[in-house]
Amino acid sequence: MISSDIEFDLRHIWHPYTSMTKPLPVYPVVSASGVELELADGRKLIDGMSSWWSAIHGYNHPVLNQAAKAQIDKMSHVMFGGITHPSAVALCRQLVAISAPTLECVFLADSGSVAVEVALKMALQYWQAKGEKRQRILTLRHGYHGDTFGAMSVCDPDNSIHNLYKGYLPPHLFAASPQCGFDSQWNEQDIIPFRTLLEQYSHEIAAVILEPVVQGAGGMRIYHPEYLRQVRTLCDQYQILLIADEIATGFGRTGKLFACEHAEIEPDILCVGKALTGGYMTLSATLTTRKVADTISNGEAGCFMHGPTFMGNPLACAVAEANLKLLLQSPWQQRIKSIENQLSTELMPLKSHEKVADVRVLGAIGVVEMKQPVNMAALQHHFVAKGVWIRPFGKLIYLMPPYIIQPEQLSRLTKAISSAINL
Ligand code: PMP
Repeated sequence: MISSDIEFDLRHIWHPYTSMTKPLPVYPVVSASGVELELADGRKLIDGMSSWWSAIHGYNHPVLNQAAKAQIDKMSHVMFGGITHPSAVALCRQLVAISAPTLECVFLADSGSVAVEVALKMALQYWQAKGEKRQRILTLRHGYHGDTFGAMSVCDPDNSIHNLYKGYLPPHLFAASPQCGFDSQWNEQDIIPFRTLLEQYSHEIAAVILEPVVQGAGGMRIYHPEYLRQVRTLCDQYQILLIADEIATGFGRTGKLFACEHAEIEPDILCVGKALTGGYMTLSATLTTRKVADTISNGEAGCFMHGPTFMGNPLACAVAEANLKLLLQSPWQQRIKSIENQLSTELMPLKSHEKVADVRVLGAIGVVEMKQPVNMAALQHHFVAKGVWIRPFGKLIYLMPPYIIQPEQLSRLTKAISSAINL
């Protein structure tokens, strides 16, 4: 890439959460392979982000490349209205097989945020079909579910962009976020704010939505599975639907295939995305139970009211199917366990650093929470100079590497974080 490309980019192209008048620097990546990103000047960076938690097998994987090539030679896309195709069937068969036994019906969508929209719409249509006006969603503070309007309305109201859209977003219910850490002693007090809200508004609540065990973009918080178990029990008690947003946690990231398994619970609706295609392209899925699907289908509308143009895109489905097969055939539990052990050994000592508020590790997730917000541009510059790709946000410097990362590569990432803290 030449410098005029970068100039054009800065002047004309929006990047995620950036200003057009004061854009943050962007680094030109020209190729990627294994766990390395190659910059235009030939430098190689070890990737600690898995491209926002999606590229679980690394980049340019021969099996996934082959799946994409084979599918593109047959057809890249065909509409899903009135048509089906082998890639969608094979993928959905696999999703039904690996998710909780009660999740039988799959809706394929375009991105994580759209999967959340679909889940919320399913919950609303479910209650409409039952003849009850229930339109409120109960969720947790520090949650993050996406950037489209429905998804935004259930993101943390303070840590997000709610204020900008006040009056436009439906007023949902936010319980204080769980305080008990994953490994800490369970404290019965933790569930009280959630239970209180649920009991107070039980007849208005259509569904609870949460990120099981790990709250991601809203703060990288890792909470006690007992919280989730009690949420499930309360939802059952009040017959409220439970939506698990596993877009970030799904497909092994926390050490279980799905984070709900830490609490041995099953949601009524499950959202997956991100790692679904191994980071190759955008695709998500919302799964639900036969009961929810039948109730919606027997309601006034007679169907579920959603159907995007690229629904069930064959190219994305073919890669996703190959990706899941690759995951399930790999020793993913062992790999994630050893990443977890190494992250603990190499990051936990930072806990006593005067600038560090907390260090948390679960599965292939390592988080260093600083006491003060970090200077993202300066830190990123430092990381690139160290030959690694880590993108911090707020007070958080974290790692979510591809599962295929080797111990010495992971050490490069953790050492880069240690050195950044001392900047
Ligand atoms: N839910 C969760 C838990 C997420 O982490 C994200 C993305 N960070 C989303 C939803 C939104 O997904 P997407 O960016 O693909 O729309």
